[in-house]
Parts: sequence; structure tokens; C-alpha cells
Amino acid sequence: MHEKNRKANHHEKHKRKDTKRGFTCLYCGRTVNTEVPGTAYRNHCPWCLRSVHLDEYTGDRAASCGNIMEPLAVAVRGKNEWIIIHRCTGCGALKANRIAGDDNEMALLSLAVRPVAQPPFPLDGLLDR
Ligand SMILES: [Zn+2]
Ligand SMILES: [Zn+2]
Repeated sequence: MHEKNRKANHHEKHKRKDTKRGFTCLYCGRTVNTEVPGTAYRNHCPWCLRSVHLDEYTGDRAASCGNIMEPLAVAVRGKNEWIIIHRCTGCGALKANRIAGDDNEMALLSLAVRPVAQPPFPLDGLLDR
């Protein structure tokens, strides 16, 4: 890939702020609109919560990895700010991303309860302790 060309294209896009931006999710194939109210920077699919490893830091598009980042867990940061922890399926990088206003609630919840729903030990014995 020609790094210089890629960067030039990126700057082209930034000049036209009024155009609708979006991307096609590499995982589920849905079209994702990046212009979401209440979301400064949309980088993951609201349906499957997958992201693509394009950034070193949010929005910089500096990573050359390009692999799908899968949601690992949700966490709470500060006061009621939910973040999704993404792990790159290619290089293993971990990233924390704010959830977006239109993220699928069921997908978020199933991610949040995953450790409880799939405990690595039997829950029955806990009461006897
Ligand atoms: Zn998706
Ligand atoms: Zn990666």
C-alpha cells in the first residue's frame, strides 16, 4: 500500500465535512452511518459492535493492521460512561471505545453479562461458602 496516497485521501475526506460518511461493516456487512447524534466519533458497528483496526489513536487512521476488532467486554468509566473493550483479531491490540447512542442494547447487554452467563466455575456452590 502506498502510505503517502492513503494519507492524502484521508485529508481529502476531512475537507468535506458536510457529506454523509459511513462504512460497511466487515463482519456483518451492514452499512454503518458515522453521523450519529451524541457521538463524536463512530468507529464500531452498532449491530455486532465490531470495529476495524485502523487507528493508533482514535480517528488518526494511522494503523496499517486493518483486521477486525472484536468486542471483548464492556466497562464503566467515570460516571455512567460505558466503554467497549475491543481486541484486534489480527495483532491482539486492545482498545477502549465509548459506546454510541445507537448501539444495539441487546448486543451491549449480552457482552456485559457474558462473564456472569458463562462462569468458569459452577455457581451453585457459592452459597455454601
Ligand atoms: Zn457489524
Ligand atoms: Zn490489529
